[in-house]
Amino acid sequence: MHPWTGPIVSVIPGTGEVPRIRDDISGEVRPSVAGESANLYVCGITPYDSTHLGHAFTYLAFDLLVRAWRDLGVSVRYAQGLTDVDDPLLERARATGKDWSKIAARQTAVYKADMAALRVIPPDFYRGVVESVPQIVNAVERMIDVGQAYRVAVPGSPASSLGDVYADLGGDPDFGSLAGLGREAQDRLFAERGGDPDRPGKRDRLDPLLWRAARPGEPSWDGRTLGRGRPGWHIECAVIASAELDQPIDVLGGGADLIFPHHEMSVSHSRALTGLDQPVRLTMHTGMVHYDGQKMSKSLGNLVFVSDLLERGVGPAALRLALIGHHYGEDWEWRGREVALAEARLNRWRDAIRSVKPQGHSGEAIAKIRAALADNLDTAAAIAAVDEWVSAAPLARERSPYAAADLRRAIDALLGIKLY
Ligand code: ZN
Repeated sequence: MHPWTGPIVSVIPGTGEVPRIRDDISGEVRPSVAGESANLYVCGITPYDSTHLGHAFTYLAFDLLVRAWRDLGVSVRYAQGLTDVDDPLLERARATGKDWSKIAARQTAVYKADMAALRVIPPDFYRGVVESVPQIVNAVERMIDVGQAYRVAVPGSPASSLGDVYADLGGDPDFGSLAGLGREAQDRLFAERGGDPDRPGKRDRLDPLLWRAARPGEPSWDGRTLGRGRPGWHIECAVIASAELDQPIDVLGGGADLIFPHHEMSVSHSRALTGLDQPVRLTMHTGMVHYDGQKMSKSLGNLVFVSDLLERGVGPAALRLALIGHHYGEDWEWRGREVALAEARLNRWRDAIRSVKPQGHSGEAIAKIRAALADNLDTAAAIAAVDEWVSAAPLARERSPYAAADLRRAIDALLGIKLY
């Protein structure tokens, strides 16, 4: 699937440092790259509603990582999935009387436009679940073959029917190592986040669905030996990631609400499919954006959509700067006034860069931005480095062989903000 048309990224002199990021598995801040290349898998949206600020915050964080990798000069392979068929989408279709695939197509288009407006570099590989069904079927068949998956009869269907397929987590001794949660928290989050702990016939309450046999009124695809049906949620990301990226993956990412069960389960499936103990080197998760005192979420209905803000005249550069002003790992509250503050800051940056001669000093500021981003994507420090340069006396800025225009290019290349 074509993602969106990416921005032209400025080139700046020199190279950046290896970005170190906080790994959720070990809790340590570690180098995000092991060699000459870096690969990243980020979970995509489920397109039943527009892109809200929580989504934008997540994809901007990974965009900053991709930009830091490109600045380092390593070759980057970035894959992103798109959950273009799943229960929430089908529920939305039932509730509104619309066709599920039309909702998905419409909201995917809005998402792409939002990402393009925010100057997010598109993934190299953008794959939906629907187009990946044959590979997912392969993977589920293989998991049955190696004894890591089993069939569960569908209540009310004849004994001859093939049933649903579930992963057998009992076959994975490393299950639970990613999130590091106790069984009680695992049970609670599994039930809250799309799991079906009470489904009769499962070997363990946590075992996740891999393949759901066709039900009346639901879309289904040819599953060969599995029978007609559709994929479960966690297997799709394991399959899309392994279809596009060499394993182990350097960084697996998404919002913090995906750590458990989604990424725990996905990585468990990847272990079963690849035979690797550690199919993922690092995981990076982004904080939750709150609004009106609660986490911004579809179920609470307190969403602020990117497309609405842009339609109301909010500048995409100001919105981007307002969002990346928060550290990717923090939970924070959207208050709305951030945009005006970001707009004022952008104006100060523009005025300062325009006011100095092209050969004005900027090398030190660029080095500080690079160092800040390498330090677990410390965007506040990177923004402060630009502020510091801007507030320095014009004479001091001009006493250097470096070009001021390079700072403008660095703000574009590293922070994704084009000043003019
Ligand atoms: Zn995913």
